[in-house]
Amino acid sequence: MGERLRNWAGNIEFGAARVHRPETVEQVQEIVARAERARVLGTGHSFNTIADTPEDLISVAGLPADIRIDEARRTVSVAGGVRYGDLARWLDAAGYALHNLGSLPHISIAGAVATGTHGSGVGLGNLATAVAGVEIVTGGGELVSLGRGDADFPGAVVALGALGVVVRVTLDVVPAYRMSQHVFEHLPRAQLDAHWDEIAAAGYSVSLFTGWAGDTVDQVWVKRRVDDAPAPGELFGAKPAGGPRHPIASMSPEHCTEQGGAPGPWHERLPHFRLDFTPSSGEELQTEYFVARADAPAAFAAVERVRDLVVPALQISEIRTVAADELWLSPHYGRDSVALHFTWVPNDDLVLGAVEALEEQLAPLGARPHWGKVFRQAPRYPRAADFAALAARMDPRGTFRNAFVERYVPAE
Ligand SMILES: Cc1cc2nc3c(=O)[nH]c(=O)nc-3n(C[C@H](O)[C@H](O)[C@H](O)COP(=O)(O)OP(=O)(O)OC[C@H]3O[C@@H](n4cnc5c(N)ncnc54)[C@H](O)[C@@H]3O)c2cc1C
Repeated sequence: MGERLRNWAGNIEFGAARVHRPETVEQVQEIVARAERARVLGTGHSFNTIADTPEDLISVAGLPADIRIDEARRTVSVAGGVRYGDLARWLDAAGYALHNLGSLPHISIAGAVATGTHGSGVGLGNLATAVAGVEIVTGGGELVSLGRGDADFPGAVVALGALGVVVRVTLDVVPAYRMSQHVFEHLPRAQLDAHWDEIAAAGYSVSLFTGWAGDTVDQVWVKRRVDDAPAPGELFGAKPAGGPRHPIASMSPEHCTEQGGAPGPWHERLPHFRLDFTPSSGEELQTEYFVARADAPAAFAAVERVRDLVVPALQISEIRTVAADELWLSPHYGRDSVALHFTWVPNDDLVLGAVEALEEQLAPLGARPHWGKVFRQAPRYPRAADFAALAARMDPRGTFRNAFVERYVPAE
């Protein structure tokens, strides 16, 4: 038997007996109709067993992209397996844009949407909030279309791959816009608490990078639309960086998107990393928790209480914001959120020790984990019962359930 398929980080070896790469929707339907247990694989950028199955693993990367603009509705429809970076280039050339992107353009649209993947911006919902419609091959092989306004739609977008194979996605678009990106360094830690609201809103999209160790936050990346107010000369004591920076200050910034205020297209400023480069070889693990944005200072203090466990496991932490949404399993459901992200060294023991300590500290704040990253506990979601009922209707044989889904979103 050949070498087994692994995720991008290499920490998960997929247990699937068979891996399929269909090239048409009809082939997807045939595979699903025959399968007892199946899951879909996007670009494999998740860090846990969310995509795993012991039986049939279906990659949709081989379906034709078939990108179509609907000018009247201001939407684009595209195959689910297309990467955000590829769609973004196409959209920009056609004069359109998405409202936001994640830090990495290499992830598939359907895979990112399924886990509630997000960028940053106090006024910007996660990437799934741009979804206006989905076409899903459900358990049994039937092709079902759901659109915004359908009663089940808010349950079918951030769906953890548990409802079926998303073969096509329709996304809201806006006119293409240009952006610039400034990096500020050494934000005094006390200023972060004192001016959190202003710092989080200092641009269209703001990311902070910290190692939680000293008395400053290492970097603040402020991404502005060129039609916004000019970038400040200084940010609450943080000074403009003297040149391009990688989020980990000791690493080369050559793979990072352009900084220093140079204007450029939205899709070359919103992600931190360039599409043409793979930012690292996957030698990392990641964890992320979301709490109410107003609770950010309390969450920062909670992390610092366990910094003795966090710092030895950490490469870098990123702090972002995400606007509230109404998607049932979204980590940002009903709550404007602050995102506390941890890029770890690839050492399971160190990481699990830090994760358990963080979960204990953040539980009183009702922290929800990123579905695609390393975590132990997830709270029950307010609409979990509605999701379970939807899954029972769309996938009555439980074809798309796996151990991850059973554990975190149990059937009623
Ligand atoms: C370097 C790096 C940077 C990252 N940056 C960010 C970031 O900025 N913000 C953020 O929020 N997250 C980030 N992530 C996490 C990542 O966005 C999520 O793990 C995302 O789900 C990965 O998408 P994928 O296509 O690789 O999905 P996979 O990991 O392949 O799958 C994830 C889930 O989606 C399901 N799925 C995939 N395709 C389909 C489909 N066609 N139909 C139905 N279900 C499907 C799978 O079954 C699985 O349940 C990052 C990850 C890495 C490795």
